[in-house]
Amino acid sequence: MECAFCSETALKFEKFYEDKNFIAIYNLRPVVKGHCLIIPKRHIESMLELNDSERKDFISFSNKAIFIALKYANTNDFDLLLQKGENAGQSIKHLHFHIMPRKRNDNLAVNKKEFFQSFAEKENTVKTLTQSEMTAIVSELKNLSEKHRVQINEL
Ligand SMILES: [Zn+2]
Repeated sequence: MECAFCSETALKFEKFYEDKNFIAIYNLRPVVKGHCLIIPKRHIESMLELNDSERKDFISFSNKAIFIALKYANTNDFDLLLQKGENAGQSIKHLHFHIMPRKRNDNLAVNKKEFFQSFAEKENTVKTLTQSEMTAIVSELKNLSEKHRVQINEL
């Protein structure tokens, strides 16, 4: 089966930001508003497989994607989640980091013991965005990245 995160066509509607090594996409099944993913363009499973160029670029790219996601969700708080391997709950075997903007009384727990339970429940029950919903959200994210371009370039 083809990897969902290697498929250009599958990501065409979801991608809102990229550089030479990484892309940022909006999650098709967002558990909170602004739930995005950071994905290396190269198919690797683990953070330990990042090459020199990707390692140097990673924090800067992540900051840019996080900045845009936070503007979109209108908050300063977020969870950043990596699951590597079956035993950690990795579903798609292509490295990806979840950015989940957080707000008081949102869908997810703050306490991490409860957080993972609420995250798993939401992932299983949340509705999949339609293509027009996704297109509208991605267009808003692209506008935000353009509006704040100067600030984002410094991150
Ligand atoms: Zn892949």
